[in-house]
Amino acid sequence: MSDAPSSSVLLAEGGCQCGAIRYRLNGEPVFLTVCHCSECKRQSGSAFGMSLRMRWSDVAVTGETKRWTRQADSGAVVVCAFCPICGTRVWHEPSEAPGFVHIKPGTLDDFSALAPKYESWTLRKSPWLHFDGIEASFEKMPEPSRREQL
Ligand SMILES: [Zn+2]
Ligand SMILES: [Zn+2]
Repeated sequence: MSDAPSSSVLLAEGGCQCGAIRYRLNGEPVFLTVCHCSECKRQSGSAFGMSLRMRWSDVAVTGETKRWTRQADSGAVVVCAFCPICGTRVWHEPSEAPGFVHIKPGTLDDFSALAPKYESWTLRKSPWLHFDGIEASFEKMPEPSRREQL
């Protein structure tokens, strides 16, 4: 699915703000995206949200998350996992892509090697925001089949 070179294998660790939830990434990320939709803004409390898609089989977690579920624009259910102590949103589980998890990449201990490849919901993008290196921009959320080709 991903044609990223093996040098992009992360072997990275991350966790919530208080440290009760920790995770390790043992494989290659599928993609990294920015989303400018209203839900991502509200969730992050900031100008955009980010998702690092990983295979669940490449993620090892310690600690117990709490879950909250919401419906995406597409009608798909999104399970949102967060730390019950500090409230940090650590990942989302997209129902349309079982087997994958969308890590909130700001929870990585070192986020410096990662750059987003595409952005969605540019209709809601703040006009002062500019990213280098974006290969594809979508006015709304692209169809899952379209995303797999990126
Ligand atoms: Zn925490
Ligand atoms: Zn969004």
